[in-house]
Amino acid sequence: MVEIKPPITFEIEATSGKARAGLLKTRRGVIETPVFMPVGTAGTVKGIRFEELESKDLDARIILGNTYHLWLRPGVETIKLSGGLHRFIGWDRALLTDSGGFQVWSLGALRKISEEGTAFRSHVDGSLQFLSPEISMEVQAALGSEIVMIFDECAPGDASAADARRSMELTARWANRSRAKFADLQLQGADSGRKENQADLNGGQALFGIVQGAAYRDLRRESLERMVEIGFDGYAIGGLSVGEEKSVMWEVIDEVAPLMPTRQPRYLMGVGTPEDLVESVARGIDMFDCVLPTRNGRNGQAFTARGRVNVKNAQWAHDMRPLDESCECSVCRRHSRAFLRHLHQTGEMLAGILLTHHNLAFFLDTMRRVRHSIWSGDFPKFRREFIERMRASGE
Ligand SMILES: [Zn+2]
Repeated sequence: MVEIKPPITFEIEATSGKARAGLLKTRRGVIETPVFMPVGTAGTVKGIRFEELESKDLDARIILGNTYHLWLRPGVETIKLSGGLHRFIGWDRALLTDSGGFQVWSLGALRKISEEGTAFRSHVDGSLQFLSPEISMEVQAALGSEIVMIFDECAPGDASAADARRSMELTARWANRSRAKFADLQLQGADSGRKENQADLNGGQALFGIVQGAAYRDLRRESLERMVEIGFDGYAIGGLSVGEEKSVMWEVIDEVAPLMPTRQPRYLMGVGTPEDLVESVARGIDMFDCVLPTRNGRNGQAFTARGRVNVKNAQWAHDMRPLDESCECSVCRRHSRAFLRHLHQTGEMLAGILLTHHNLAFFLDTMRRVRHSIWSGDFPKFRREFIERMRASGE
């Protein structure tokens, strides 16, 4: 038997309305919240080196990994042999792993959901695969992330009330099974991310519950009640930003966030644009992840304090200004829009790398500014001016 310390602690340091600025302590470092977590689906945040993520420019304290992708490739055995995901990828800061529930839903072909779990065809090679709460917990223990997510079932944004209820109830039962299996694995010492030699940092993994229920506010409320009854280290809102109207997303967040336990972190999964992040913080959310800064960066789109800049546009061909004159990242300090456009037009891989760097800097810096404005009491003003500026054209 292994002694288990509290896996994480969370302290709220300042508030402004519903917005919270806090400190989330994990065995791999302290994370200031609200926090944006870059997505490292397959063990890599696409287009950027780990050194850059750790650099002062970005200073990402936590990144995401994904159970579904890592389980299919390279497979659990490879990661176990390396001594866990941190060692395998060469990242010693905090990791959060998604359970695979969402990816089975969005990528797995010919999905067949049963009480036991989900059978599906791998998007990699078409082979038949089966993922369940127990298997997801085993994989996430082998990955050794600081924060583990329950295995959930995601209903589509336009699901009928009956389908959404079935899905929400199944997620609640799977949450119970996730909790039980997770506890067993922690006691068995299956968590490969433990740091045995550091007495102050040898907590186990934390487990977060996920609130589902599609667009139905009553189902969302019930889902949250069931999650809180089971008891988790933090709570997430899942199943948003999956094709529903933006207004539905805000309705759900407005309904759920105020009811979420105040002393634990609140995580909005897979959202969103810089505006969404700031608006969600105003509604009491603490944690975010999204592929937008990396994916859009690879496609030539930059997020700036004055709106979006698409480097493909001919209007930048002779523009010697940086992407964002108010950004202090290394890309904006060194390169012009004209050069970035040239890289993109000639298909140079550096185009995606530089835009990804700037976009991540922008998202992470936005969160830093949000935190400072909550501390200083200026958050309402920051929010108003930020949203206003982001509506501009990027010029
Ligand atoms: Zn920049």
